[in-house]
Amino acid sequence: MLNFATKKMRKRVFSGARPTGRQHIGNYLGAVRNYVALQDEYDCVYCIVDIHALTTLEDTESLREDTHEMVLDWLAAGIDPQKSIVFVQSHVPQVTELHTLFSMVTPLSWLLRVPTFKEKVKMQPENVNYGLVGYPVLMTADITLYKGEVVPVGEDQLPHLELAREIVRRFNSLFGVVFPEPQGKLANLPLVLGLDGVQKMSKSYDNQIEISASPEEISKRVMTAVTDPARKYRSDPGHPEICNVFCLHSFFTPARVEEIAVECRGAGIGCVDCKKILSESMSSNLKRFRERRASLASKPGYVNEVLADGANRAEAIAEETIREVRSNMRLLQRSDLR
Ligand code: SF4
Repeated sequence: MLNFATKKMRKRVFSGARPTGRQHIGNYLGAVRNYVALQDEYDCVYCIVDIHALTTLEDTESLREDTHEMVLDWLAAGIDPQKSIVFVQSHVPQVTELHTLFSMVTPLSWLLRVPTFKEKVKMQPENVNYGLVGYPVLMTADITLYKGEVVPVGEDQLPHLELAREIVRRFNSLFGVVFPEPQGKLANLPLVLGLDGVQKMSKSYDNQIEISASPEEISKRVMTAVTDPARKYRSDPGHPEICNVFCLHSFFTPARVEEIAVECRGAGIGCVDCKKILSESMSSNLKRFRERRASLASKPGYVNEVLADGANRAEAIAEETIREVRSNMRLLQRSDLR
């Protein structure tokens, strides 16, 4: 059984991520390493939002495995279940109740104007399900069920958080203050492009490098990366500022970026050699992670134990909140019947 260390009161961070399976470098640089850092300053609640995933996922065959692999990566990367609550959204069903109750105070017009809803409608016109419209309401329920005060966000997610804050304000003004208004914590979350150098790194574009990849796999993947199109020949001078390989060097080979930029511009280095350097630095940067992952993976049931413990701790908070919500909304409660 895991112990939850007693700590002095700190602000609570909530963040959710879809179960996307093995994490890639974009996930790591854009979210996971920030999750790890936040643990030192906040009480963190990290949720694998499997119900949200169902809004776009029609084939759920890999959902369980993806959840397991993602959690294994998180833990190996340094998310500490002694410090943070790590759990699966659907394991705490109170979130669906709060979603329903919030949906009664959220004008439909607020939801229909959300830009991501409009985008999703264009992307999957054959599957415009109710969950897509209600997505921000469920997101608000996710954060507030645990009285999340701080939500790490990138600039692009600020409008979603503002909508959550509007829903909270409306609820609090109608039924009395139950929830803190969640504040966005803007983090320097880099947008990591995939190996195609065009799209955001994503499994769905098959342009990713997994953080658990072996040195051989890393090298194989890096060699496929698109570089500066102006470098048709080894003697052509390059433009590192438009090359994604160079961008990845800034994360994994920071001590040599200046030198690489100069060499690239002067055609002193070829793209193949440049990629070899990147593969090696990436591989050595991720070595400790791979070792920790292998060690955790060798403990049967460890991930399940973490998730079960996380669900218990999350549910204890959720139950308290939902009781407060029912009471403030003046619903006749079962406990009133005794
Ligand atoms: S030498 Fe390196 S930085 Fe320059 S274009 Fe080739 S891969 Fe990109």
